[in-house]
Amino acid sequence: MSYADEVSKRVSKSGGEVALLREIRGRAAGAARGGLRLGIGDDCALLAAKRGEELAVTTDLSIAGRHFRLDWHPAEAVGHRTLARGLSDLAAMGARPVAAFLSLALPRELTTAERGKAWVEGFLDGLLGLAEAHKTPLAGGDLAESPLVVADIVLVGAVPKGQALLRSGARAGDLLYVTGSLGGAAAGLARLAAEKSAFQSDKKHFAGAKAHADFVALVARLKSCPDTKMFTNSLEAQLAAHLYPQPRIRQGIWLRQHGAASAALDLSDGLSTDLAHLCEESGVAAEVEAARLPLDPGATLAQALDGGEDYELLFAAAAGARVPRSIGGVRITQIGRVVKAGRGRAAVTLLTEAGARPLEPGGWEHFS
Ligand SMILES: [Mg+2]
Repeated sequence: MSYADEVSKRVSKSGGEVALLREIRGRAAGAARGGLRLGIGDDCALLAAKRGEELAVTTDLSIAGRHFRLDWHPAEAVGHRTLARGLSDLAAMGARPVAAFLSLALPRELTTAERGKAWVEGFLDGLLGLAEAHKTPLAGGDLAESPLVVADIVLVGAVPKGQALLRSGARAGDLLYVTGSLGGAAAGLARLAAEKSAFQSDKKHFAGAKAHADFVALVARLKSCPDTKMFTNSLEAQLAAHLYPQPRIRQGIWLRQHGAASAALDLSDGLSTDLAHLCEESGVAAEVEAARLPLDPGATLAQALDGGEDYELLFAAAAGARVPRSIGGVRITQIGRVVKAGRGRAAVTLLTEAGARPLEPGGWEHFS
């Protein structure tokens, strides 16, 4: 069911919900349109396909208590992260975004404002702000009342036929690279968790404590920023890496246009897990040099290896391929190489000063 159907169904019910649906439609209509021929208002959106392109489609669920916490994450960050997860998948394929579709279920109280703006307003601010930055129109979706916040995002992208970056193209002898830095999102989440649990266990003491008030104000003040160098301190940069990750759309398109990458994926679950996926799909093994990893300032090696949600790109490139030091202002770092898969050999080996050890997928458990 479309937003438009929801409006007509609910006109006689709550003025607040109708207003919300109208607001989504109004705000989406004012955004960049790109390959969108017809957006919210009819039974379906119409997307204009260019000759010689194929469509890339990805879907991601964001569930309260699983992917975010209402008492930890600002509404703007939840909206931003919902769209960032989908855009990052398009980036990994080298696709340009065409349209986003959002189905949102949420409790009624989050659609009304007691003081300030309603939670859902902040959610839309975060989601539509990132959509605008990547010229991705919100082209449809659905709304429902629910005891739990669930946001289901669908992204449609386009890529020249046969040129999408796949996980399966890495070959022994290729070099491995990542964009940006690693571990920042996990470090930011750890800081957020430490502060929130300290607050929970000692509310009386924390309620008036200036340090806690400053932390809460800092989290509320943070906004999506395409360059973490813009942040004045490492705490801000780490929290922003977790709350407002920047999908590497421009870098993915560059790699595809220049034929530079033999395989790619985005780092949603953490390097140890995602590199194992790439190795499995390509039928290869990999070696990672710990000393080469571009650790986010303040992040540990474990956070860089196993912490998820950095949304950087991991790609392989032939040893002779021309790979620049940065793409669109984002640093590119060689972190290891692709080797032949062998019987009894770990898919991924971590090389450290102390020697070589198998790198098992660390997994990302979110808030479970
Ligand atoms: Mg992905």
